[in-house]
Amino acid sequence: MISTAFHQLKQRVSLECKRPYKARGIKVKRCEICQLKRDNCLCGKQPNQDCSIDFILLFHLDEIFKPTNTGRLIADCFPNNTYTFKHSRTEPDQKLLDLLNDPSRQCIVIFPVSDELERNVISEISADQTKKLTLIIIDGTWRQGRRMYNSSEYLAHLPVVKLDPDDKSLYATRKASEDSHLSTIESVALTLKISGEERYSETLFNYFEEFNQHYSAIRPKR
Ligand SMILES: [Zn+2]
Repeated sequence: MISTAFHQLKQRVSLECKRPYKARGIKVKRCEICQLKRDNCLCGKQPNQDCSIDFILLFHLDEIFKPTNTGRLIADCFPNNTYTFKHSRTEPDQKLLDLLNDPSRQCIVIFPVSDELERNVISEISADQTKKLTLIIIDGTWRQGRRMYNSSEYLAHLPVVKLDPDDKSLYATRKASEDSHLSTIESVALTLKISGEERYSETLFNYFEEFNQHYSAIRPKR
């Protein structure tokens, strides 16, 4: 099992972080790497593929420590193409700013926009062949994500892919999550699918399914 950009971020943030995050099921003995129960661990199943697209994950602090977080699974799928950052409204990492302003990149934000957002919204990606397609993924709850996006001036100039959170038609076999919103990894897989990147989309969907199977195995029966 390789150490991905996500694991490095988590380690860094844990050292800075003063309050321990109390995840549900904290008594469960978890694998340090994949955060699943040790005897039902996901390590060794990571797709670990190369991708022609880069991914920048912007995490809300809470997400970094949630065993249910799915953004981190993108780093497992495409470790050589994933950058990870803790979101900051006012003090974004310089490396993040450099990536976002790199003229050789076509940066696009993936975010389930609502109707009130009018600026820069696109419904699908038409890749600029001369540039490296780079997807910026905001990883938080629905409400956190909206706040993170709206408060981050450094994202304001970038186009945003409009995803309809209620459009289940594209993945009818997948059951709706509790609040009927897409998970982070599903949002990205869906965006790749509508952009014609079927193969990468399948990698994410399949790994997400694997994660769900392993995860549900540790959920207490009611
Ligand atoms: Zn593991």
